[in-house]
Amino acid sequence: MMTYKGISASPGIAIGRAFLYDNSLNLQIEKREIASFDIEVERLKEAILKSKKEILDIRNKTLEKLGEEKAQIFDAHVLLLEDPEILSQVKSMMSADRVSPEWALEQVTQNFINIFEAMDDEYMKERASDIKDVFNRVKRHLLGMKNMDLSLLEEEIILVAHDLTPSETATMNKDSVLGFLTNIGGRTSHSAIMARTMEIPAVVGVSNITDIVKEDDLIVFDGEEGKVYINPSKEILDQFKQRKEQLNSHKVELEKFIGMKSLTADNKEIEIAGNIGQLQDLDSFERNDAESVGLYRTEFLFMDREQTPTEEEQYQVYSKIVQRLNGKECIFRTLDIGGDKKLPYLNIAHEENPFLGYRAIRICLDNKELFKSQLRAILRTSEIGPIGIMFPMISNLEELLEAKSVLSEAQNELISEGKKIRDNISIGMMIEIPSSALLSDIFAKHVDFFSIGTNDLTQYTCAVDRMNEKISHLYDPFNPGLLRLIEIVSKAASENKVKLAMCGSMAHDELLVPLFIAMGFDELSMSPMHVLPTRKLISKLSTDSCKNLLSQVMKMGSSKEIIKELKKYKELI
Ligand code: PEP
Ligand code: MG
Repeated sequence: MMTYKGISASPGIAIGRAFLYDNSLNLQIEKREIASFDIEVERLKEAILKSKKEILDIRNKTLEKLGEEKAQIFDAHVLLLEDPEILSQVKSMMSADRVSPEWALEQVTQNFINIFEAMDDEYMKERASDIKDVFNRVKRHLLGMKNMDLSLLEEEIILVAHDLTPSETATMNKDSVLGFLTNIGGRTSHSAIMARTMEIPAVVGVSNITDIVKEDDLIVFDGEEGKVYINPSKEILDQFKQRKEQLNSHKVELEKFIGMKSLTADNKEIEIAGNIGQLQDLDSFERNDAESVGLYRTEFLFMDREQTPTEEEQYQVYSKIVQRLNGKECIFRTLDIGGDKKLPYLNIAHEENPFLGYRAIRICLDNKELFKSQLRAILRTSEIGPIGIMFPMISNLEELLEAKSVLSEAQNELISEGKKIRDNISIGMMIEIPSSALLSDIFAKHVDFFSIGTNDLTQYTCAVDRMNEKISHLYDPFNPGLLRLIEIVSKAASENKVKLAMCGSMAHDELLVPLFIAMGFDELSMSPMHVLPTRKLISKLSTDSCKNLLSQVMKMGSSKEIIKELKKYKELI
């Protein structure tokens, strides 16, 4: 039995057999002389045929799950697979140099890849990875290796990968992926956030787990604790099975809170909202009885495609969400791209510090047409149901005022086009940057609500890259400096009668929630899976005792001391 520690990314107990998902695009291919050209060409044709079948299968599944536009990516892959120029070059090399098809394919495709990679156009550069993707599939068939697409997984497995992109996570089949482990990544990477939304247990940043784990190894882990056991002893396995059962009965206990208001022990109501990134997340939102959408991360709609979605395309998606919410409010967070979320088609130059770089509102204010088309699409949904709009990454007053003026322009345009827009759309901003927290009394005069994005506020306050597992111990939600900033915002909100919300991961932290009750938060927004545990926790808290706790904690200077005090309090309730 071996144990490894990683970063808890999504809670839950996972027990299953390892499936190594090799998404590294480079395969090792040795030069091999061939005996018969004809036999080898047959092998090549067979490998291409198998690949084509697989790609068409992925196309169909993508069509069902994600729609026609995403499915078309795979039409282009089939065309590439059958490209006459590539095939004829491969065959001539095989016959002239008597080399194997996998070797010839490697040389020929590498040439094309080099050509595309050298192009200035970001879109054309991306075509290089399509070529790698398609022909690596063929090469794997030639080498007798498994080709796998996450959407096609049917067996129940624990997925082990170097890293996973948000779209890979989104296309996972949750009935078969019982959990996943990755070498790299942090708690607030977007794969981790998606895993929590999809309720798939996950541990990330487990160093070189892909080198350690072997296919079919038995793996057990607790996503909450971040500890991974490979081929555990019977004793550990039994413990995990028991814990899984306990978790199930805990779930039954939590289900009693479905349909109830979120009230403290002294009957103070607080709204527990859900964070979503796509329409499908509303399944978990509904199952867990979230009261509204406190954060809709709209950028996922812009990712994994080849160009910006048009206003109409955006409207189609946004309106489905507002419709399905059936009267519950949806807070749209405007495009928050940059950082770990890239959009190749925007041609953003390489940056040394993307989280401190060209990101979110900075990109939108620099691309007003893009920004305005999103705002127009969002505003149009207000006819269907209650909505709010908030701007991410605001770092100074000018940015907020400029964003609001683009919003007014969009609003006026729509009105002059005769479109109906609701009057009472709430306008807010995210507080994710220390300068905004410190200036919140000024901002409060210009917004209806604040939503504290603690994932970023923690990284910017503690100067810790949220994706860097080496320094994850410094990414500290209990850092007293961070708590002071949050308290400053809470005071500015209550003095100016601005609604106060939080939508980062701290919002569901069972040790911190009492502090947020004491600070007077009106709304806590979280991955839907945390809604019921938080509602249950709040039902045990009384505002006065939370206030006493807050005044104790705010005098403390070390997070260790704070954690100790918060744990002591938790044991008493
Ligand atoms: C945050 O920063 O806390 C937040 C909610 O935004 P995101 O995690 O999408 O950056
Ligand atoms: Mg953020």
